[in-house]
Amino acid sequence: MRLNRSLTRRDFIKSTAIATTATATSAISTVAAGGAAPKMIGIQVGSVSFVDEGTESVLDILQQRGAVNTIFLTTFTYGRGLAGRQIPRQPFPDHGPQESDEKLFHGGNYATPHPEFYRNTVLKQTRAPDHGDLDIVAAVLPAARKRGLKLFCSIEDVFRSDVSGVREVAEVDLQCRKTGTLCLFHPDVRAFWTGLAIDLCKSYEIDGILFFNERNGPLLNAIGASHAQTIASSRVTCFCEFHQRAAKERGIDLQRAREGYTKLDQFVQNSLANKRPSDGYFVEFWRLLVEYPEIIAWDRLFDAGKHQVLAEVHAAVKNVRRDLQVGFHIEHVNSFNPIFRATRRYDELASKADFLKVVVYNNCGGERYAHFIDNIGSTVFRDVPRAELKRFNDYLLNYSEEKDCTDLAAAGLSPDYVFRETQRAIAGVQGKCKVLPGIDIGIPVGRNSRKASAEDTYAATSAALRAGADGVIFSRKYSEMRLANLSAAGRAVRDAKG
Ligand SMILES: [Zn+2]
Repeated sequence: MRLNRSLTRRDFIKSTAIATTATATSAISTVAAGGAAPKMIGIQVGSVSFVDEGTESVLDILQQRGAVNTIFLTTFTYGRGLAGRQIPRQPFPDHGPQESDEKLFHGGNYATPHPEFYRNTVLKQTRAPDHGDLDIVAAVLPAARKRGLKLFCSIEDVFRSDVSGVREVAEVDLQCRKTGTLCLFHPDVRAFWTGLAIDLCKSYEIDGILFFNERNGPLLNAIGASHAQTIASSRVTCFCEFHQRAAKERGIDLQRAREGYTKLDQFVQNSLANKRPSDGYFVEFWRLLVEYPEIIAWDRLFDAGKHQVLAEVHAAVKNVRRDLQVGFHIEHVNSFNPIFRATRRYDELASKADFLKVVVYNNCGGERYAHFIDNIGSTVFRDVPRAELKRFNDYLLNYSEEKDCTDLAAAGLSPDYVFRETQRAIAGVQGKCKVLPGIDIGIPVGRNSRKASAEDTYAATSAALRAGADGVIFSRKYSEMRLANLSAAGRAVRDAKG
């Protein structure tokens, strides 16, 4: 079936029914070790895959090939990482239409927003127009239930600036410009996330919510301490009235924070222009932090806003039904960046989650880690040769035997990386919540970077389970996975069981 904006719910159900008769229902696959509860074997899927390939056909493939027992259905996002077909200009996988949805993709809420849950927010009009009046949760949930599959709604903090209300609740940057991202201290934004979570949990008999928010605070954004972003030190956020109020309550001086970030911006710009401070890059950076503790305080403020939203979503969902589960996606930078690691306590996150989906994407991890080293090697650690900086960082992160900088993207990270990061997360949560590593199945990479093979996927899945994970979540979306790799992941799950 072609993706079509005017597709109606009736058309969808009809096509799904045809698919049902054509394929057999398979048994639920679970992994149980020594009589323990079955491990959660999840997979992230966007609505477009069910529309393109038919609900029953997709569920057949997920169960038979991937040994999947839990669907993480992308329900809210404007981003292409979790929704839509393959990223434009990347090779299509061996299923679904071999045609880009670049012009059709919009994003938003793929379920039906019920207005009573959005009374306290300006973000009222978020219905995704991509599939006409189709409600993807209403369509997929009964089919999943019939097979004994669990279903979680994935919701992600990725917006687009033309959505009604976004401008009113947008963050304000260092130079007082409105941005395209939402301020997590804004009451309307907080009301939106809790409203959305409650709406989904009350309107559908789902098993819970997986919340994605990959945004970083101003310190990391200023120095380019992530893997994906460009270094934009003059665009750091947020300095809006709600942040100013929250700062005041915590006794943080706004003017000093502005001054500190302005100096940090100058430091970064000078670094990128190769203008070395007389005391060296690292000393100059550290001096800024010492002289302006407000830099770190303002960064902590961002985290406080983000974590407050997580806590509110968790509380709101538990208020609907105690047995609903809430999970948080823990972004990749948490794995590469020791400074970021220091700002994230697994046990603290675990206190407001039933499970953490910890990103351990090893294949694209090589390219991303190399990018991270390049970024910090352009600013704070500019005096250190890249190869040595990478080796030093490996020690800090407890990585072993990963390739050198020059080969990293082409080699990817090893299954041992998956094993170690899984173990670190399990030790970190101190038994307070479950750990479900996110396994990389065909996440798009650059032309010269490693492309995942079935063997890689098998090894990564095995490593996570061997490290003692409570399950795994195949990531990022079914519409970018090759079937042989999904089968290899499923084989690893079944082998771990045996
Ligand atoms: Zn703000």
